[in-house]
Amino acid sequence: MKRVAILGSTGSIGRNTLDVIRRNPGEFRVLAITANSDIDTLGLQAEIFKPAFIGVADAVCAEKLRSKRSAQCRKLFTGLDGLCRLAEQKEIDLLVLAISGAAALRPLLAAIEAAKDIALANKEALVMAGQVVMGLAARKKIRIIPIDSEQSAIWQCLEKEERCGLKYIYLTASGGPFWNKPAKFIKKCAPEAVLRHPRWNMGEKITVDSATMMNKGLELLEAMHLFGVGADQVKIIIHPEAVIHSMVEFRDGVVMAQMSATDMRIPIQYALSYPRRLSNTLPKLDFYKLHELRFVKPDLKKFPCLALAYRAAKALGTLPAVLNAANEVSVSEFLRRRICFGAIPRVIEIVMDRHCNRKNPELAHILEADQWARAEAEKYIAKKGIGVNK
Ligand code: NAD
Ligand code: MG
Repeated sequence: MKRVAILGSTGSIGRNTLDVIRRNPGEFRVLAITANSDIDTLGLQAEIFKPAFIGVADAVCAEKLRSKRSAQCRKLFTGLDGLCRLAEQKEIDLLVLAISGAAALRPLLAAIEAAKDIALANKEALVMAGQVVMGLAARKKIRIIPIDSEQSAIWQCLEKEERCGLKYIYLTASGGPFWNKPAKFIKKCAPEAVLRHPRWNMGEKITVDSATMMNKGLELLEAMHLFGVGADQVKIIIHPEAVIHSMVEFRDGVVMAQMSATDMRIPIQYALSYPRRLSNTLPKLDFYKLHELRFVKPDLKKFPCLALAYRAAKALGTLPAVLNAANEVSVSEFLRRRICFGAIPRVIEIVMDRHCNRKNPELAHILEADQWARAEAEKYIAKKGIGVNK
């Protein structure tokens, strides 16, 4: 049985991972689960899956959980340092990284340092520090198996291919709720409209990223690091049906696409069972019901976050970490109704413009750029407030 640790088990990916494990008795054992602060969900998960280790990032919530009877386990790890120690535990065979945002970076590096294979859902850590993460993974000879559906698709298309034959990656995007709406309408949208994603049911941050299309921008950087390609080799295509999860074109003109139903449990299951494929009762494609598959070129003017991501992807250095940090702050301020939807790219652009990019950064430079960009974005928003996009 594969012993699995799930960092971020209370989130959308975390809960789907536990569902896949529950559906495959005898294949996997849940060795560890963690959350930031949602100890109610974590307590329920602990009762069902009886993990040996539990981690809670927030220290106050960790104390509350300690007093719950449901949370009995061999060891409770607390704080971000605690999550890093949990990620190093000897018995872990595979670590699912489903924490959202930049907070995932340290536990990811700790797990790779301890030579754990990773099933990676989080994208922000790779966006910020792709070279550092991939360099360490290569030195430690571990596998990073993508969970993100697009990266999983590319990984599957490339699995048996020589990398030198790869010409382009076509990263497909559902387009979120606004791809065919006028720019004027989009700018004023409230969180409720933004959080209504037409295809995927995900955590709040990634759902906002899908609406701005920053999610695809982050995936562009993610793909560059995972598959060792340049920004000019990755083409983004809006494909509203979200049936093709991405494609690759080889130098002889052959294109391979990966298709499946729109359900994150499919790429999660493959990341858990790799290199095997397990049967399941998850939704399947019915080609007789697929009337059309559309492909549309994204409008970079309407979705300036995409243009900003291409800019960071071409420059690399510390700029992607700045892009990511300014985006995290803007999205969180948007969800708190402190800035409008249209202000998100504006804040990111201002912070990127002010940044002095450092090429080939070490981890310390990346973390410094991340902190700097957060402070800069907060300062700018505090000064301009809700009118930031005017
Ligand atoms: P979510 O918000 O639903 O869950 C996030 C999880 O991370 C929760 O368990 C939370 O407790 C934990 N967490 C949050 N902040 C933390 C912190 N500071 N320290 C420790 N733990 C913390 O997010 P999600 O939608 O499940 O996404 C998780 C990651 O996977 C993101 O990076 C996202 O981009 C990526 N991803 C998600 C999907 C999806 O379908 N949801 C698809 C592809 C990729
Ligand atoms: Mg994706």
